[in-house]
Order: sequence, then C-alpha cells, then structure tokens
Amino acid sequence: MFTKILDYKVFSGTKKQLIQYIEDFDKVNIISGNPEILYSGMENEFLHQVYTDKTSVIIPDGVGTVMASKIVKNPMKEKIAGIELMEEIVKKCEKENKSIYLLGAQEEILKECIINLLVKFPNIKIVGAHNGYFDLENCEEIVEDIKHKETYALFVAMGCPRQETFIAKYMNSLPCKIFMGVGGSFDVFAGKVNRAPKWMIKLGIEWLYRVIKEPWRIKRLICIPKFLWRVIFNTDKMENK
Ligand code: UDP
Repeated sequence: MFTKILDYKVFSGTKKQLIQYIEDFDKVNIISGNPEILYSGMENEFLHQVYTDKTSVIIPDGVGTVMASKIVKNPMKEKIAGIELMEEIVKKCEKENKSIYLLGAQEEILKECIINLLVKFPNIKIVGAHNGYFDLENCEEIVEDIKHKETYALFVAMGCPRQETFIAKYMNSLPCKIFMGVGGSFDVFAGKVNRAPKWMIKLGIEWLYRVIKEPWRIKRLICIPKFLWRVIFNTDKMENK
C-alpha cells in the first residue's frame, strides 16, 4: 500500500483505504506530500525527520507525486488531495461524534471557514479554533486549550514548515489522534480562495489554476521539476550521506 519515492514511503492506496489504515494508529501525522513538501524534506534535516517518522503517513497530494510513482514503476491508485482528505475526516468525525480543532489562517478567514464547515457538516463538534499568527515558542495557552478540549483531530493551516514545526513540537504532549497540516485549506473553506474547476483537477493541472490566480506561486512551482529530476536520477543527498 506504499510507494517508495526517494526516502519516503508514500501511501499508494485509495482515500477510503487510507481512512481505514489510520484507524490503527495511536497518533498519526498526515503529511500532504506534494512535490514542494517532499522536496523541502530533502533540503531540510528537521522536515526530513518529520516526514519519515513512524507516526507520519505521507499522502500523494499532487500530480507531481503521482508522476513520481510512475517513474519508480509503482504507481499510486489515486491522487489524494489534502483538502479532500480533511473533508473526509471531518465527515467521519461528524458521523462518529468526534471533535475537531482548527488552528491556523487569519482570524477573519478562520471565522468564515468555521461557518462554512458548519453549514456543510451541521453536527460537527468544533471544540476550538485559533488563528495561525502567534509565537511558536510561546504558545502554551493554545496548546493547553487543545489539550483541555480533548481534541480528536487537529487541523493546522499555517503553511510549510510552520505547521509541521508546530505538530512535531507538540504532538507528544497533545492527546489528539489525528494531526494534519492542511496549508491553505481554511482559505478554501472560507471561500477566499477557490479550488480549480473539476476539469482542471481531472487533467492534473490544478497547479496552473493556482498560478493564474496567485502568480507569486510560480516561484514555488520550480520544486516540481527539481523533485522529479531527483526521482529520475535518484541524486538524493540524504541517501548518499
Ligand atoms: N498562515 C498562518 N500563519 C503564518 C503564516 C501563514 O496561519 O504565520 C496561514 C495563511 O494565513 C494561510 C496558510 O497559512 O491560510 C498558508 O497557506 P499556503 O498558501 O502557504 O499553503 P499551501 O496551500 O500552499 O500549502
């Protein structure tokens, strides 16, 4: 159920299988493994350690990661977009009466995101929320709040590597079962940013839509060819150390 890409074990089953797979974990950190995220782990020892930890499960979030699985001749069953998985988890939590906590984004966005989530999942137990603008070294109050509320699933939307740093730092001391960094997903739920039209998602060109909407992202896209280049030639620094 996994494809080895560079140093990473990337989940290669379906979204449904993933939901089942994480059931067996005590605590799980779901990593949205798009090329940018995976590439960052090849350049940064801390992130590398987080992504390869036994509590982490990397999902193939992006057409570049799916392409990489074809290059290594162990193709994924499907792309699993982080935002879609988050929705599935929220849906499951609603059904099973389990709680979620939202950490990240700007205050106004967070409020809109909560309203829209409640419209879509009227019975979801959102036990707490906090915006993503605080000092990572000095956030005991937030950590205590998450702890105190007995949060089951914690979604952290602060971009990489800030969200990964928060999760790695506090995962052990928090009682949550599911930890997931979800990047700009709260902005999407809030309606501030739209996802690409379905036909673009199907064609695997969601990235193009995001670049048209947010041109500054073009710089970040350079990670896709760099990542694929490494996969093709397996010139991975970490492996050669
Ligand atoms: N963000 C945050 N705290 C910060 C920096 C960013 O909460 O210190 C939020 C920001 O408001 C946005 C998200 O993190 O909601 C960043 O999303 P980005 O577009 O970087 O994520 P991507 O989807 O590209 O991973």
